Order: sequence, then C-alpha cells, then structure tokens
Amino acid sequence: MKPRSARKPEATARAIYRKLARAWGRQHWWPAETPFEVIVGAILTQNTSWTNVERAMANLRAAAVLNVEGIRELPLPKLEALVRPSGYFRQKAQRLKNFVAFLDARYGGSLEQMFATPTEQLRAELLTQNGIGPETADSILLYAGGHEIFVVDAYTRRILERHLTVSAGAKYDEIRNLIERALQREQPVESHRPGLQARPHAHEASAMSTAQRSPLAQVYNEMHGLLVQVGKHYCLKQQPKCEICPLGSMLPISIEQSDASGKIRKRSPG
Ligand code: SF4
Repeated sequence: MKPRSARKPEATARAIYRKLARAWGRQHWWPAETPFEVIVGAILTQNTSWTNVERAMANLRAAAVLNVEGIRELPLPKLEALVRPSGYFRQKAQRLKNFVAFLDARYGGSLEQMFATPTEQLRAELLTQNGIGPETADSILLYAGGHEIFVVDAYTRRILERHLTVSAGAKYDEIRNLIERALQREQPVESHRPGLQARPHAHEASAMSTAQRSPLAQVYNEMHGLLVQVGKHYCLKQQPKCEICPLGSMLPISIEQSDASGKIRKRSPG
C-alpha cells in the first residue's frame, strides 16, 4: 500500500469526501427557501459569520423584500439599514442592488433565464460584477442554480494544504479543478442515519438543500458542506483538533499533528 503522502491529490480529495460522507451524511447546504435567498446570502456572507447573515436575512424577510422585486424597489438607505447586521452594510446593500440591475439588464429580471445560461458563460458574467469573486459566483451557480461547479472557500484551502493536497498559495481555480476531477464519479451522500458517527450540528433540510439537481451537483454541494464542518469544528486556524478529527487518520505521514502552539508542523528529516 502506498504511504499516504504519496497519494495523488485527487485520490486524497476523494478519500476525504468518502470518509466524511460515511461519517456524517448530508449537511443540507444551502439553508434557504428560494434561489434568490441563496444569492442574497452568498453576497451578505462575505467577510462575516453566517449568524450575522441570518440576522440580516430575517430583517429582509420581515420587511417582505427578500425577492428580486423587493430589492429592486427598496430605497438604498432602507436596504442598508436592513442588512446592517451582516457588516459592510453600505457595500453589501449596493452589491445587492447591482446584482438585481445586472439581472434586469441581461436577463429581464428572470433568474430562470439567467440559470439557463451555460456554466462557464454565466460564471464569466457574474465575475464581471463588482464584489462578486469566484467563491460568491460559484456559490450562486451551484447552490442557487444547480450548476455543476465546486465552491472553494478558506476551509477547503486550509484542509487540503494541511493534507499536502495543494500547495500554499494555490490558485482558486487550481483547487476547484482538482476537486472536480476527483469527484467526477462519486455518488451523492446519503441522509444521516442513526448509527453513523456523532456529527456536528447540520442545517435542517430546506427547499433549496433538497432541490432537484444532478447527482454531480449534489456531490459538489455535499463536499463543500462537509469541509465547512471540518473547518469550523476541527481544522481551526490555530490549534487544529487533529486527534479527534475524522480526517486525523489521513494526515500525511510526513506531518505531525498539532504541536503545543496549535500549528501543524513537519517532522524533521530522519
Ligand atoms: S484538524 Fe487535522 S486531521 Fe482534521 S482536517 Fe485539519 S489537519 Fe486534517
């Protein structure tokens, strides 16, 4: 058997998916009722926690403006006040306005038409919008539109770097392409069943988490959700909890687990 450090990156990514899927089952990302809610959440979640996003979303919902028309019609200062809990509220309110203006100008205000656009074309269009970077664009494509594209976030990068699967400073699309190659033939995660390992709290099933999508889009959906759980609960920036992490047994043999300062460190040669 090959030592773990000699595994191909794709094989490691696949093994991570299989191990987490077996241990924890479905994670029910993205928690939302409509595609537009996913888009709003993807924009509001930049540089803040999901808890803050939920507070802003609750404001929008209570004001009955969590839809394309609502954001279009709402005066900017009122929108800023509603999204204030998500931080950078002026910038984010403007980004929501910008997105709706783009949707109106390019697709007549129709999300269905927008999502009928081929993935690479729509991705390129979204990336031209101010404040929409690759992670936000891919979250919109995958979670709101059901397109087959993987979302790379800081957790993904940290976990793969620590498992020597990508190099430090690897580009976003390099990591995305690696995961997509690795998971091409994987099967969607089954629902969590009693008897599977205890797992971190997962989102409740929602209209969007259970929306019809292709098996491959569902695999990308779940891989992202599973990595978020590892990153939030085990693979912390400081003091990773390798000894209790489900991926602990997969650490490359050239890596020791966390030292006293919490940093993963390489074993010295010999
Ligand atoms: S906590 Fe340790 S074992 Fe778990 S993903 Fe991070 S580096 Fe790997």
